[in-house]
Amino acid sequence: MLSNAKEQYDVIVIGGGATGSGIALDATLRGLKVLLIEKNDFSEGTSSRSTKLVHGGVRYLEAAVKHFDKEQYHLVKEGLRERKRLLDNAPHLAHPITLLTPIYNWLEVPYIYAGLVLYDIISGKQRLGKSSIVTRKKVTKLNPSIKKNGLKLAVKYYDGAFNDARMNVALLQSAEQEGATVKNYTELKSFIFRNDKITGIKTYDYINNKEEEFYAKYFINATGVFSDHIRKMADKNIKSIVRPSSGIHIVVDKKFIPSNNGLMIPKTKDGRVLFLLPYLDKCLIGTTDNEAKVKEHLKVSDSDVDYLLEHVNKYFDVNITKKDILASFCGLRPLVDLNHDEKSAELVREHIIEKLDSGLITIVGGKWTTYRSMAEEVVNMLTNTPCKTIDFKLAGSHKIISTKDLADYGLNKETSKRLIKLYGDNALKITSIAKNEVGYDFIDNKYHILNAELIYTIRYEYVKKPLDFIIRRANLGLIDKKESIKTVKKVSEILVKELEYNSEFLQHLYNESISLLEEGF
Ligand SMILES: Cc1cc2nc3c(=O)[nH]c(=O)nc-3n(C[C@H](O)[C@H](O)[C@H](O)COP(=O)(O)OP(=O)(O)OC[C@H]3O[C@@H](n4cnc5c(N)ncnc54)[C@H](O)[C@@H]3O)c2cc1C
Repeated sequence: MLSNAKEQYDVIVIGGGATGSGIALDATLRGLKVLLIEKNDFSEGTSSRSTKLVHGGVRYLEAAVKHFDKEQYHLVKEGLRERKRLLDNAPHLAHPITLLTPIYNWLEVPYIYAGLVLYDIISGKQRLGKSSIVTRKKVTKLNPSIKKNGLKLAVKYYDGAFNDARMNVALLQSAEQEGATVKNYTELKSFIFRNDKITGIKTYDYINNKEEEFYAKYFINATGVFSDHIRKMADKNIKSIVRPSSGIHIVVDKKFIPSNNGLMIPKTKDGRVLFLLPYLDKCLIGTTDNEAKVKEHLKVSDSDVDYLLEHVNKYFDVNITKKDILASFCGLRPLVDLNHDEKSAELVREHIIEKLDSGLITIVGGKWTTYRSMAEEVVNMLTNTPCKTIDFKLAGSHKIISTKDLADYGLNKETSKRLIKLYGDNALKITSIAKNEVGYDFIDNKYHILNAELIYTIRYEYVKKPLDFIIRRANLGLIDKKESIKTVKKVSEILVKELEYNSEFLQHLYNESISLLEEGF
């Protein structure tokens, strides 16, 4: 069925990850009429699968210094500047984090310490704290599971940590509140051309099963690792520019690494950086870096898990086995490769912007931390109106609320804390739905996830399928696979009722969700 709608926009953004969502918000704030389409759920691509660090990149700084590489240096500087903005604009979703780097060789102390002091200097006024040396005694007290044999000391430094999937939805809510139209489960199928210029798009809406057409002046391809596919729809003879690299994370109980700071192993035997980070009251461990093919629903390979476990068990006095893994996920980095000859771990995490003769603008590469400045750069190509996102508070961040503000709702403290951490001031909308409509029943008792929370995310956060909620809004799927599987039935039932789906679709949603949770989402 093709709907008659032929809507005209200023800008159509293809892709609802960090890059596209940042562009949608920036362009809308500058007065442009924006449509953003995403073929799956928002952030379902790479943007919910990051290490969740807001950073300049200590590793890139090392490369900048070692090779006198100006490009890498600017990348670090830009990251550090944007780090502070991201933390300020969504304080419920992003916060400073202390990271410790254990050192086992005295000769490495001056090198690593000087590097981290330089990181502080480049941060300038946006510094989050001062790097310092921590004695062996103090490190082992703060981190009882750290490997003690041969440990000399640790260097402490600061970066940011954030909730990627929820940040993504906050960007889109903000864009929508300012007038943008955002649609998930809507895939770009082809471009419409007039005199070799793109004037419109044909899409398919998988929830309502309909084809649609939309028209605009500008078309932005922000599809991450899928960018080449979209570029080739505009010009089939064009060369590829994206070289995806996969990275996995595993999540384990905090008892294994019981510390409130993060830990960074600066160099594994194959030259990688390993992070162990506190994450939603668990411990997040990552990551790997392997050449990969563009694919959806990525499986976490056994060999990648073995790699992480081998290194964690080597650098910590723990014995974590596969049975201890609560959840795992894999993501694809949209790395830009114009030369096709470097190892993916060595490719600069720089973004590029390209404009084709047909008018299609592609932005690809970069990192979550710099989504805002990347968006600013693209939107500057469309309008002279000044950028407004530098200090724009995102949805959920307009008022700082505490558990006291939720005291009248009869919630336990754990639930209140969790709601505030994930939803910021929108926690009040959830408690109001609980109080006035559906009561305080839990979908999941272990993690205090309320029925009202699901209803809120269906109404205000574009939830259309069970895993949109379980993984990307409530974040349960990112920390506890078993518990996630248990919630699918209840989530599907509430969803079907709220969105008036038919019973056939209920069965489909249930089967699809279970299979993705079991096989890899
Ligand atoms: C393992 C790993 C760890 C990382 N850690 C960090 C970190 O700690 N800090 C940091 O700053 N960055 C980190 N990054 C990088 C960061 O996550 C990415 O740079 C960022 O998420 C990319 O966002 P994006 O919007 O460009 O791509 P995506 O999030 O992939 O979004 C592109 C979207 O386009 C959609 N799409 C594709 N085709 C179509 C179509 N035809 N129609 C409609 N939609 C379509 C896709 O479904 C997808 O959702 C990490 C990345 C990985 C993989």
